[in-house]
Amino acid sequence: MTKLGRELASQGINVISLSVGEPDFNTPEHVKEAAKVALDENYTRYSPVPGYPDLRQAIVNKLKKENNLDYDVSQIVVSTGAKQSLSNVILTLINPGDEVIIPTPYWVSYSEMVVLAEGKSVFIDTDIDSNFKITAEQLAAAITPKSKIFMFSSPCNPTGSVYTKDELEALVKVFEKHPDIYIISDEIYEHINFVDQHESIAQFDSIKDRVIIVNGFSKAFAMTGWRLGYIAANKEIAAANDKLQGQTTSGTCSISQRAGIVAYEQGLETVNVMKEAFARRRQLVYDLLNAIPGVKTNLPDGAFYFFPEISSFFGKKDADGNVIKDSSDLALYLLNVGHVATVGGDSFGNNNYIRLSYAASDDSLKEALRRIKEALGKLS
Ligand code: PMP
Repeated sequence: MTKLGRELASQGINVISLSVGEPDFNTPEHVKEAAKVALDENYTRYSPVPGYPDLRQAIVNKLKKENNLDYDVSQIVVSTGAKQSLSNVILTLINPGDEVIIPTPYWVSYSEMVVLAEGKSVFIDTDIDSNFKITAEQLAAAITPKSKIFMFSSPCNPTGSVYTKDELEALVKVFEKHPDIYIISDEIYEHINFVDQHESIAQFDSIKDRVIIVNGFSKAFAMTGWRLGYIAANKEIAAANDKLQGQTTSGTCSISQRAGIVAYEQGLETVNVMKEAFARRRQLVYDLLNAIPGVKTNLPDGAFYFFPEISSFFGKKDADGNVIKDSSDLALYLLNVGHVATVGGDSFGNNNYIRLSYAASDDSLKEALRRIKEALGKLS
């Protein structure tokens, strides 16, 4: 959708993009400065495969300070983005036929990474009425002797849902009965949380050794293009990730790594400024979405997405008589008629919804929601 939106824009059409998953802020100045210094200091050569030791130490310090989690430097592997970390872990752990349990809706790449590793995704469906969160009973019912990994994000892309400590604890009780299942905890949106402090499932000692935290700098520090992510995991998994990465990408960009150290050492001031803007826009979009007949939304607790239910428009026709059959059709219609780029929920494993990112200016959001309302109102 982002690509199609860009194509329309290149024809001179004013398209508002609510389809991309990145902050609309610039990387903080102090982080950019650190990269310039790194260049001047000639950090331009191959770096160690799992990352510079002082970056890995900064990550260990962050995990202790912000999450009260104890890790050793040998348990951290820095990568070319959380995406590579997820892929590394799946390729490391999954043998053909192994099952990966994924709650829907999920971030698009999860299921495709499982395909690449010749595993099998087992989906647990959720909906807006449960705030897109699974229960312990649903988890227990999805487990089979072939289950190898449970994989989720909290805060979640695409729904913004955030699991509370109690909700995580209920899932942990299930995992305690199944000691062979690993848990990939994608915490890339941890700092964009409007309700509470971030809760990691790695805080539960009974399963910590089986949890692989995946995190990175893309969202918190608006560093999507710098390609910097990492895992925190048990030593065996960390070593395997190191080995795999050593034959694929090697250590990620040296300059990004030096900047990452400064990002973590200088703390969360800039993240909090960004979060305030997201909080304001979240309320704005919530009010505007609620004013559109046929759209049902919840108020997401984190990340920067809405995932409203739009299935009431299925079966309706546009001005040319074309029928809207699914969420992709609706997203295409909104792009072509409303000139707003969104993403159909079917990309995330849940067809009754669309995803809107509110990482855009207040004015763009107001105009986008006006256009969406107008376009939807034209369907009959
Ligand atoms: N996990 C989730 C849930 C994401 O939304 C994204 C980015 N869209 C990533 C991982 C990948 O992040 P990175 O830029 O660090 O590769």
